[in-house]
Amino acid sequence: MALPNYAFFNGRIVRYGEAKVGVLTHGLNYGTGVFGGIRAYWNDEAQQLFIFRPRDHFRRFLESTKLLRMEFSYSEDDLTKALLALLGTENHKTDCYIRPVAFYSDEIIGVRLHDLTPALAMVAIPFGKYVEKDEGSHVTVSSWRRVDDNVIPARGKITGSYINSAFAKTDAQRAGFDEAIILTHDGHICEGSAENVFLIRNGVAITPPITDNILEGITRQTVITLLHDELGVNVVERSIDRSEIYLANEAFFTGTGVQITAITRVDYRSIGTGKMGEITTKLRELFFNVVRGRVKKYHEWCTPVYETKRAR
Ligand code: PMP
Repeated sequence: MALPNYAFFNGRIVRYGEAKVGVLTHGLNYGTGVFGGIRAYWNDEAQQLFIFRPRDHFRRFLESTKLLRMEFSYSEDDLTKALLALLGTENHKTDCYIRPVAFYSDEIIGVRLHDLTPALAMVAIPFGKYVEKDEGSHVTVSSWRRVDDNVIPARGKITGSYINSAFAKTDAQRAGFDEAIILTHDGHICEGSAENVFLIRNGVAITPPITDNILEGITRQTVITLLHDELGVNVVERSIDRSEIYLANEAFFTGTGVQITAITRVDYRSIGTGKMGEITTKLRELFFNVVRGRVKKYHEWCTPVYETKRAR
């Protein structure tokens, strides 16, 4: 993976090599950081790079900082402006992934969340697919359980809690699967290592509620809107039993990294026909048109980076 050329670091854009932290940094030692993941999509016809729902991503990012008692004076709009400046400096004309991260920067010994100084950084890199088999992945139900809200809140994108995802992902991949589905403590379907999950059963889309220890995904929210408003599919947010996924007609993951990835097998059981289903296929097509700024109704989700040379 190529490294970024620049970083937004301590309030200004610097060369990536200058954005450095020390070994004793609190966030590195104790996992006291939060992060985000945002995509920007290159649209060749419009010669434009569109950032997908940056304000919604930054709202969740700032909510995560709040959970860790970090105080910043930045608003969602300030961070969007900083990102526009960063992407303008990088000047990429290809799909990108953006990583904002906030962390306690103190170089001290002592685990706590008070009397510490938060720092914020952001980088952008060219990025394609996060998963290879996005049209048909084989997943396993992990033996690891999801962190509970009273352990480490999963609704915050907290760096330390991603060890939970890493355990599940590595064990799944080492066992030959593409990804893991992680259950909540009471055994309900929660999410993947870095993605939310949806089932289609008897024409209805079902996804776990935000009170089941999921990350409140921006792609999840996007997909709920597109399924309901554009494809006429009812979406129900409720707890899902493990065995319901085996009987689903279709299943898929959603997330900034995976975008929309079809789940076609779970633990050697075919989901539906064992091929990407009709609703997932239609949804993916629509989603990719929306994120590339090709659907007028959803232009407000797509923030252009470069000055518009001609009408979209
Ligand atoms: N769940 C987890 C655990 C994640 O890390 C992610 C990726 N941010 C998601 C769900 C999907 O969220 P989003 O659609 O906002 O990327």
